[in-house]
Amino acid sequence: MVNDVLLKDVEDALGRGPWRLRFAGHIETQFEADTQRQRSRNMVAAGLISAFIYNLFLINDFSFRPDAFTMAVALRAGVMLPVGLAILWQVHRGVSPPAREFLMACTVVCATVISCVILASSTAFYSYLDVFSFGLILVVGNIVYSLRFRYALASSVLSIVIASAFVVTYDPMPTDAKRLAIFTLLANAVFTLVANYRLERSERLSYLHVLREKLRAGHYLKDNEVLSQLSLTDPLTNLANRRQFDAELATRWREAVEKDAWIGLMVIDIDHFKAYNDHYGHPQGDDCLRQVARAMQLNSRTADLVVRFGGEEFVVLMAEASPEAADLEAERIRRSVEALEIPNAGLSPRAVVTVSVGVAVLPPADSMTAEDILCHADQALYQAKRRGRNRVWVANPDDVPIGDDPAGNVGRSAR
Ligand code: GH3
Ligand code: MG
Ligand code: MG
Repeated sequence: MVNDVLLKDVEDALGRGPWRLRFAGHIETQFEADTQRQRSRNMVAAGLISAFIYNLFLINDFSFRPDAFTMAVALRAGVMLPVGLAILWQVHRGVSPPAREFLMACTVVCATVISCVILASSTAFYSYLDVFSFGLILVVGNIVYSLRFRYALASSVLSIVIASAFVVTYDPMPTDAKRLAIFTLLANAVFTLVANYRLERSERLSYLHVLREKLRAGHYLKDNEVLSQLSLTDPLTNLANRRQFDAELATRWREAVEKDAWIGLMVIDIDHFKAYNDHYGHPQGDDCLRQVARAMQLNSRTADLVVRFGGEEFVVLMAEASPEAADLEAERIRRSVEALEIPNAGLSPRAVVTVSVGVAVLPPADSMTAEDILCHADQALYQAKRRGRNRVWVANPDDVPIGDDPAGNVGRSAR
């Protein structure tokens, strides 16, 4: 359900105009949650490289403006480096997405301010040439860090305003050079901001596409689960169907062989159901099947698999069964159907719907197959029918009648 809403929002976001960057509410949250770790890692790596290169500029300070070299060392290595590293440490440890973008944008503005102060503190002839490298700071913020567009825009505008103020008031610089420097900085900002916007846009679009495919895959998976559930269930009674029984019998037979445990099976058939159907009609016959199925389900153990085998015939596959437990359970099921007191006037005026149950419980021997137990239970069912119906008959090697059921509904078959 949550995924349905998200999928619809993702599709809406993909359909929106291509110029918008931020997603609507929860997609933005999801986007940040999914990309946060990787983005912080990338920013920290880019920040470390940038910090190193920023300090390499000390070589230029030394050769172009020796008069301000001490100041440059103090500002680049003594101020910018610790501030930058402290920010990177915070980002590495994890801060909220807006704080991350803000802190990284601060390093851009801070680097511009420090470069400008170094420039202003020198009167060396070529010192102003450095102004033409200020654009690199914008390249770092807008492309290397790939700040989110609004932070890239804000830090670029602020950097240009600060740098322009320093350049305009820097007397040793020729006016034409000042104009060219500011123009170059502006052009640099425009190009890198365009690139920044396109990078963010394509990152967000790819994210949406991947998210949509993931959500759709989730749907297909769910559809498949529903389909495979349907293919294993009887639509009339919602019990397991024959297909599920075949698979489960093979598995449980294997398990019983491995654990050296007994396996039990009941075959249950509604008595005189043709008469019921003929008298009440097929739809009511279906309703009767549903009621009987429900009674069987309610009176079997949770670990048992209750199956509609076909027509008015059912099977209960019993895990780790003992002959005594199987007897009791079969009798409980028989009684529960009888207790429904569904009239079967097609048979006789006072007759009710009943079932006959054939039970087989045995330890799986090497010489036997899973189908053998089904045959044993079927033969027991045949005995139950032959001996008057509405009774349980247990396929048993001993041929000893139980004889303790007052209604005479439980007995044991000959081998
Ligand atoms: P017995 O006690 O020997 O089992 O007699 P019976 O009448 O129950 O057995 P028979 O095999 O002669 O008849 C089974 C009937 O079950 C035939 C058919 O009308 C009915 N039947 C089978 N499947 C369905 C079903 O899906 N819905 C309905 N309403 N009836 C079904
Ligand atoms: Mg029948
Ligand atoms: Mg039958």
